[in-house]
Amino acid sequence: MKFRFPIVIIDEDFRSENSSGLGIRALAHAMEAEGMEILGVTSYGDLSQFAQQQSRASAFILSIDDEEFGGGSPEEIDFALTSLRAFVEEIRYKNSDIPIYLYGETRTSRHIPNDILRELHGFIHMFEDTPEFVARHIIREAKAYLDGLAPPFFRALVQYANDGSYSWHCPGHSGGVAFLKSPIGQMFHQFFGENMLRADVCNAVEELGQLLDHTGPVAASERNAARIFNADHCYFVTNGTSTSNKMVWHSTVAPGDIVVVDRNCHKSILHSIIMTGAIPVFLMPTRNHLGIIGPIPLSEFTMENIQKKIDANPFARAAKNKQPRILTITQSTYDGVIYNVETLKEMLDGKIDTLHFDEAWLPHATFHSFYQDMHAIGPNRPRAKESMIFSTQSTHKLLAGLSQASQILVRESENNKLDRDRFNEAYLMHTSTSPQYSIIASCDVAAAMMEAPGGTALVEESIFEALDFRRAMRKIDQEWGQDWWFQVWGPDNLCEDGIGSREDWIIRAEDNWHGFGKLAPNFNMLDPIKATIITPGLSLEGHFSETGIPASIVTKYLAEHGVIIEKCGLYSFFIMFTIGITKGRWNTLLTALQQFKDDFDKNQPMWRVLPEFVANNPRYESIGLRDLCQQIHQAYQAHDVARLTTEMYLSDMEPAMKPSDAFAKMAHREIERVSIDDLEGRVTAILLTPYPPGIPLLIPGECFNKTIVDYLKFARDFNHRFPGFDTDVHGLVTRVENGVKNYYVDCVRADCC
Ligand SMILES: *Cc1c(COP(=O)(O)O)cnc(C)c1O
Repeated sequence: MKFRFPIVIIDEDFRSENSSGLGIRALAHAMEAEGMEILGVTSYGDLSQFAQQQSRASAFILSIDDEEFGGGSPEEIDFALTSLRAFVEEIRYKNSDIPIYLYGETRTSRHIPNDILRELHGFIHMFEDTPEFVARHIIREAKAYLDGLAPPFFRALVQYANDGSYSWHCPGHSGGVAFLKSPIGQMFHQFFGENMLRADVCNAVEELGQLLDHTGPVAASERNAARIFNADHCYFVTNGTSTSNKMVWHSTVAPGDIVVVDRNCHKSILHSIIMTGAIPVFLMPTRNHLGIIGPIPLSEFTMENIQKKIDANPFARAAKNKQPRILTITQSTYDGVIYNVETLKEMLDGKIDTLHFDEAWLPHATFHSFYQDMHAIGPNRPRAKESMIFSTQSTHKLLAGLSQASQILVRESENNKLDRDRFNEAYLMHTSTSPQYSIIASCDVAAAMMEAPGGTALVEESIFEALDFRRAMRKIDQEWGQDWWFQVWGPDNLCEDGIGSREDWIIRAEDNWHGFGKLAPNFNMLDPIKATIITPGLSLEGHFSETGIPASIVTKYLAEHGVIIEKCGLYSFFIMFTIGITKGRWNTLLTALQQFKDDFDKNQPMWRVLPEFVANNPRYESIGLRDLCQQIHQAYQAHDVARLTTEMYLSDMEPAMKPSDAFAKMAHREIERVSIDDLEGRVTAILLTPYPPGIPLLIPGECFNKTIVDYLKFARDFNHRFPGFDTDVHGLVTRVENGVKNYYVDCVRADCC
């Protein structure tokens, strides 16, 4: 495998016929003769653009010949030095290792200030050595640099795939050869390419080590990632954070244990409750009327409050061991709300054995002081005395991991060490015995990419782009004046340039942009890289305006204009600024939103602005975009849906059975399908999750209350009136009977409760 990393030469004379040009070209030819690729340019150009080049280069050679240094007038020399310094700084901001050489004929290091000199790998005087000699020296350094790049597992995998040995182990496609025997297989092979298939190997390959027992290069990579993420232990997981969460839980929770859980947690935590047979008590997050989930207030976390909840729960009351085994909270909600972990540690250390932060959306936080204390595990953070800290992170959501790449980070306490062998029993229970090696390699590479200084720079860049997007949205809003425009949810104060201060993003009780009420000081923060965009029609207090634009129409419109949105609420949707963000991407979103406004204001017919959607839903063909928005808006308004959804999530959920017992009724077929009209008071056997927002509403063993039934009836009527805009509720069974769509829920049979 030959990687392409050219040596970049920047010299004004690179194409000139003077002696300086001849000299540098002779060097370039000598390096090419040794097989190196050379990229010669004549100016520093746009610095930010060149900063990108550092990731593609193997070395830089920067000329400081007389011409560049302006022939000598002090001002000109000063100017030349300033741009040289800026360039070197720009490279070193992201990359502390790449070799940088200065090249000069008459000038020597005497002319270069120390702060530049100390960043260099050498100073080349062309006519004192042969070009061949200098070339070999530079190439040696460039190769040493490249050789040092690959982290342990990726390095071993590349070597193995290059090796070309025949093997008899699975997978059965034998490095891709099986695909070549059929036409469709050929297509598959050509699409994914030889390397992906050669690197798809089985865990019988000894030199790559084992994920399942953490040996060899895999173990070296996990240790490397643990160091980079400031953790005591790191476990790579190839089935997503859904699986990481189950591993953490199964390592510490057993049937009958009391567990304390964020009511708006990810469904994998609820699956964990069901699988372990735990008795959950829930902490209730705040919620504003835009449907945005806020933080769990500090007061919910006090042991007195947790004790009150235990006493109020018939199953917890009867539990043998009253001390909660684990606390799990969503650290970065969908909308980007995060908690001060140091505050939580102070409150709960020693009172709950394991503090688990589901940081699926927060793997970047440890790399920037912007998030100091607002994530589970990081540099300059004290150990807890008793409680073990776990963080589970989806490498694939915000860093450069392939889908399903995830990791578990562990921070031990002063008095409790992790028993790795014991933990691994839970790890094995949830890991395939045939892990996907490309995913392991991406865990390895994603971690290595975050090594300082590059990782800090990447996080800073995504914060910067996120703020620039917000600034751009504000500018458009100001230009429209009285006319409507989309708002980005967040603090009123936005710094004018750069990334400002984390203080700007602390959620304060006295601010009224959030609608979460009286929060404790310095306890919560909004992560600016998540941007929730608010469409007109609903106020923070839950009042509907006369006209409105439901977010589901906007996101459908954006999809047909090539912008795919991850999550959508009634009058809000959100976008993320991952380390993969580009200016092109968010500017495309901006122009698409402008187009939407234009089409909306002109009430353009649907067939024209959403042709694909209308092809599937012809009933909307001739209606105007604005008219359709208004119809749906009025349907929401008539049912006061904003209030309904807020209230249903905040309503009291009565547990009638332990979640695992209710789920067991499914396995034993002791359930019946109950029409949603008859649900009130019934015990659900399944997990009920409305989309939006994709947060589970009812858990196996809980009873349906009137608010939830009202919501389900609304969803049925709404879906009937507006097909294509369906409110999707996972857990509902739909049956078309006599031409009518009916909705059911699998409930525990009445005689089995
Ligand atoms: C996405 C998500 C998960 C699951 O992560 P996967 O890597 O998709 O399995 C867990 N918790 C939260 C809060 C999530 O958003």
